[in-house]
Amino acid sequence: MSMINCPLCFSKESSLFYKDETGEYRLCKLCALVYVLKEKHLDEETEKARYDLHTNSSEDQGYRQYLSKVSTPVLERISKEAKGLDFGSGPGPTLSLLFEEAGHEMKIYDHFYAKDEAVLELKYDFITSTEVIEHLYKPSDVLDRLWNMLNDKGLLCVLTQPYVKEEAFSKWYYKNDPTHVCFFCLETMNYLAKKWTAELEVVSKDIFIFKKSI
Ligand SMILES: [Zn+2]
Repeated sequence: MSMINCPLCFSKESSLFYKDETGEYRLCKLCALVYVLKEKHLDEETEKARYDLHTNSSEDQGYRQYLSKVSTPVLERISKEAKGLDFGSGPGPTLSLLFEEAGHEMKIYDHFYAKDEAVLELKYDFITSTEVIEHLYKPSDVLDRLWNMLNDKGLLCVLTQPYVKEEAFSKWYYKNDPTHVCFFCLETMNYLAKKWTAELEVVSKDIFIFKKSI
């Protein structure tokens, strides 16, 4: 019996999912999130140093192509006037540019590179968060906050790699990034949809769109 709370649903019920020399990965019995324990969390400086190594840029056609797998399904589901936020825009904001090029007014936010808290006080018709939620130490707070920033019928589109089964987890590249601290699966997304009474659309194995039904 562990006394550790799940950072997403706060359940104390978890089991050991995987363990290596770096520590334990717990599986939440309620929301199916797999998470690392707090003591494994990096300090801010070390975390940022990792992000500074990301060399993605808006000039990079391959990176644009990769992000179009998020922008394309979102563009198909929003109106011409829809205003958006890219949350966790990183060192070289690019996804926001894809939406701007399609005529949408965009804001960006990034805890390390664009920390403008004022944009978190506004409301949006759509919010994207690409390869971000696996980094969150407080996924519940952040995801609820994003959800509450949406207008009626707004969309929250997240991209994260769902975790693989126990046997394959040991070799899974995604868990080896020390800034990755929580891992989602379809069941976790269903938990969020239920909590928010959202419609959940699974666009592909790693892209999830939550829609505010009112
Ligand atoms: Zn949980």
